[in-house]
Amino acid sequence: MEIQELLKKFREYSNQEPTLIELAYQFSKEAHLNQTRASGEIYFTHCMAVAEILADFRMDMETVSAGMLHDVLEDTKTPHEVLKKEFGEEIYNLVLGVTKIDSLKFSSRDEAQAENWRRMLLATAKDIRVIIIKLADRLHNMRTLDYLSPEKQVEISQETVSLYAPLAQRLGMFEIKSELEDLIFKHLHKSEYESIFAQVQSQFARREESLERFKKELEKHLSSSNIPYRLLSRAKNLYSIYRKMQIQNRPFEEIQDALGVRIITDSILNCYAILGVAHSVFKPIAGTFTDYISVPKMNLYQSLHTTVVSPSGDPVEIQIRTEDMHRTAEYGIAAHWKYKVGEKEKDDHLNEKLNWLRQWIEWLQDMSSPREFIESFKTELDLDQIFVFTPKGEVKALPSGSTPIDFAYAVHSDIGNACIGAKINNKIVKLEYHIKSGEIVEILTRKNAVPSPDWLKIVRTARARSKIRKYLREHKLLEE
Ligand code: MN
Repeated sequence: MEIQELLKKFREYSNQEPTLIELAYQFSKEAHLNQTRASGEIYFTHCMAVAEILADFRMDMETVSAGMLHDVLEDTKTPHEVLKKEFGEEIYNLVLGVTKIDSLKFSSRDEAQAENWRRMLLATAKDIRVIIIKLADRLHNMRTLDYLSPEKQVEISQETVSLYAPLAQRLGMFEIKSELEDLIFKHLHKSEYESIFAQVQSQFARREESLERFKKELEKHLSSSNIPYRLLSRAKNLYSIYRKMQIQNRPFEEIQDALGVRIITDSILNCYAILGVAHSVFKPIAGTFTDYISVPKMNLYQSLHTTVVSPSGDPVEIQIRTEDMHRTAEYGIAAHWKYKVGEKEKDDHLNEKLNWLRQWIEWLQDMSSPREFIESFKTELDLDQIFVFTPKGEVKALPSGSTPIDFAYAVHSDIGNACIGAKINNKIVKLEYHIKSGEIVEILTRKNAVPSPDWLKIVRTARARSKIRKYLREHKLLEE
C-alpha cells in the first residue's frame, strides 16, 4: 500500500491532520534504507504494514506515526534526540515504549513466569497505545513467519501463545487474538492444522451454499424494510475448533460449528427491527435469544444473539449490532480508546491515565476469574511495583524502593542470609541501592556470612524484615 492510500484510510475515520504520518513515512523509509527482511523484501514494508494495521484499528495520528517508526530506535542509527525533535515527546515516548518491550526477552515456558511477564509488559508500557503498537507489530511478524528458520518459528510462536494472544484477549481485541491463535496453531502444530484446514475446506462448499441461500432470503426481506445494514459472514477460528476437539475429546465430524452471520446497522432501534424481520422470516430456535444490548456483558460487549433455522435446515446464529458495538467487539480497548481521547483532552494526562485504568478494569472484569482479576487490579493500581531479573532471566516482582537484600530474600532466605554484596547489570552496588524495573540483579554470597542488624533499617519488604529478625533472634544477635 502506498502512503496516499494510508492517508486516505486515516482521513475516513479521523479529522486529525495526518502531516506527521507522512513525515514518519519518509523518515522511516530513509532510516531503514538498504535493510531487508528474511523474506528478501525491503525492511520498510514491515513498518508500513504495522502502520496500516493500526489504521485498521482506527488509532490516532500519533499511534499510526509511531507504528511507522517503531523499529527506528532499535534497528537503525537514529539518535533519540533526533526522533524527539522531529516528532515530539508523545510519538517519541510511544516508540521508546515499544523498543523497551522488544528488549524483554521471554525465555521461560513456565505459566507463572508468563504471568509475571504480562505484568511486566504492562508496567513497562505506561501508555496502553504502546501495547497496541506491539500487538500490531507481533501480528505482522506472525503473518510473515514462514520465512524464518523452523527454530525461530517455534520460539516466536511460543512467546506469542504465552504472552501476546492472552494479552490481546484481556484487552478485548478478539479479532487479533483469533488471528494470532490461528497463526500459532499453524506453526506449532503443523500437521493438525493442515488436517483441520482440509476438513473445513471439504465441508466448505456445502456450508457455503447453505449460508448463501440463507443470506439471499434474509436480504430479500431486509432490503424491502428500508433499514440500513451490512451483512458479514463470520470468520472461522481453526484453533478454536482444535481446542474444542481436545477439550471434548471428539473427532472433527462431531464438533458443531454453527453457521453464523453478523448484521451491522446504524442504531439500537434498528437492531431490534432487524431481529423482528429475522424472527418473522425464519423459525427461531427456542432458548437461543440473548439480549446483550439491554444487558451488556461486563466487558462492554453488546449485540443481539439469536439462532434460527435456515431454508436448508441448518441452524444459523445471527448477531445484530451497531457499528460502534461491532468495533468494540472486534478491537476491544483499541476501539474504546478512540472514543475516550478527544482533541480537547489531549494535554490532560491525568485524565487520560484515569481513563485507561478505568477501561482496563472494565475490560478485565469479564476476562479473568475473580481472583485473577483482583490480582491484576492490584498490580495495575500499585504503580509502585518494579519487575527485575535474576541472572538466569527469571522475573521477580518487588515493591519499588526494594534493595538487593529484599531481592536476595525474595529468591531464598539462605541467599539473603549469606548475602555480602550485589551487582546490578554487572556493576557492584551498595546494599542500600534502590533497584529499578528491568535491572538484572546478582547477589554475591559467602558461606559463613551473617545478616547485619543494620539491614532492618534499609529493607523494604516484610518478607526480608521477618527473615532477618528470625535469623538474628535464633543466633542471639538481636538485642530487643
Ligand atoms: Mn517490528
